Amino acid sequence: MKYLKLVIVAFLFFSCQTEEDTIQKEEAFNQTIVQVTKHKGKSFQLPTTKFAKSTPGGGVLMQAFYWDVPAGGAWWNTVKSKIDAWSNVGINAIWLPPATKAQNGAFSMGYDPYDYFDFGEFNQNGSIETRFGSKTELLSLINKAHSKNIQVFADIVLNHNSGGQLEYNNYTNSNTWTDFINVASGKFLRTKEDFHPNNIHANDWGSFGGFPDLCHDVQNVKDWLWLRTDGVGKYYKNVIGFDGWRFDYVKGFSPSVIHNWNANIGGFSVGEYWDSNVDTLNWWANSANSNVFDFACYYKMNDAFDGNNLNILNEDMMWKRNPFKAVTFVTNHDTDIIWKKMLAYAYILTHEGYPTIFYKDYEVWLNKGKLNNLIWIHNNKATGTTSILYTDNDEYIARRNGYNGNPGLVVYLNNSNSWKERWIPTNWYNTQIKDFTGNSNWYPVTQSGGWVKIQSPPSSYSIWSVNM
Ligand code: ZN
Ligand code: ZN
Ligand code: ZN
Repeated sequence: MKYLKLVIVAFLFFSCQTEEDTIQKEEAFNQTIVQVTKHKGKSFQLPTTKFAKSTPGGGVLMQAFYWDVPAGGAWWNTVKSKIDAWSNVGINAIWLPPATKAQNGAFSMGYDPYDYFDFGEFNQNGSIETRFGSKTELLSLINKAHSKNIQVFADIVLNHNSGGQLEYNNYTNSNTWTDFINVASGKFLRTKEDFHPNNIHANDWGSFGGFPDLCHDVQNVKDWLWLRTDGVGKYYKNVIGFDGWRFDYVKGFSPSVIHNWNANIGGFSVGEYWDSNVDTLNWWANSANSNVFDFACYYKMNDAFDGNNLNILNEDMMWKRNPFKAVTFVTNHDTDIIWKKMLAYAYILTHEGYPTIFYKDYEVWLNKGKLNNLIWIHNNKATGTTSILYTDNDEYIARRNGYNGNPGLVVYLNNSNSWKERWIPTNWYNTQIKDFTGNSNWYPVTQSGGWVKIQSPPSSYSIWSVNM
């Protein structure tokens, strides 16, 4: 019965082919196939599989917050309530906002760090809990995530501090807000000696918003950030249970800081180096021995999808330069410029790099079923190196070449308002394929040379792989 169906489908398919198809196939032949990554084909994987399932495609990261999530100390519980569902659809890690007490206490999103050891347990800066909850609630969330094979990444602000008391500063000959002697945890006490300017440096690579700018060459700072057993890094990892790090504003200091942190602490690491220059991103990732957010990919997706020129997707991006050090994203808590988000998610979830899904896109704004389908495709089919098969203004077709018995996929993005179809060369021979998004109901069989015609719906996408 199954065989009969296949024959009928194949008959219908081949009988539909016209002379026009043949012409188009020959045109396609003239397209240069560009293999944009060259490596053995292994996918990005987290540094350890402890608390995370590894998949052929490498897993998906959830950014588990947005700017100004509801205050009131319930956020850790909200995230915890999502863990079962996220685990079931294939999320293998979550990124939390900075988890310790900041200057703005219960109202802060955490990027004005005050006491690195107050996870919502000391009454200071106006509250016991942070905006997100108590230490107990955070630990409960982390335990829940680990029990469901989800790693938890901490957001770490190392560039600046906020909320210190005024003290006389002989380096500036003025009073500065650099006295952090009275933090309630009693740990990582800081003074003017720990900030720029001091007796080591006038400044480092950058400061942020006038906040006291930490000097990472001061022994007290190095000790408390990554050297001491009870310091920030080791305490966060070994006592609180964080598995990795998202480093805020790494433009503000030398990449050697992150290099030192990673050498001493370990775990997954990604830096927010907000820059679209691929050379710079790649330099930073190599110097810091860290992943980096692929801002190049972000801006090029915006130009390509919103600017109606998918040829731009041929340009350089961090994931092409080093797919094992690129974290791709469509939106984050700071920036949201891409309108055609589903095309962008279809892009990052079929291509190389470690893709991030933004909480609000997933839980509020976009179609969850469609995102779940893309996450499944990523984890199960997005394997191997990448070759771009075809681009023009409104069409883009790329192939993941498969790895280790996994067949890979072909993704067809269509940014026009009509159906498109095209002959493409696959790595599959005399093989029936299908669109795993369900957007096309074709079940074509590839020719002996691997050629096959696929289609993609208006303002949408199709993603093809071996029908099995
Ligand atoms: Zn310094
Ligand atoms: Zn700095
Ligand atoms: Zn845009």
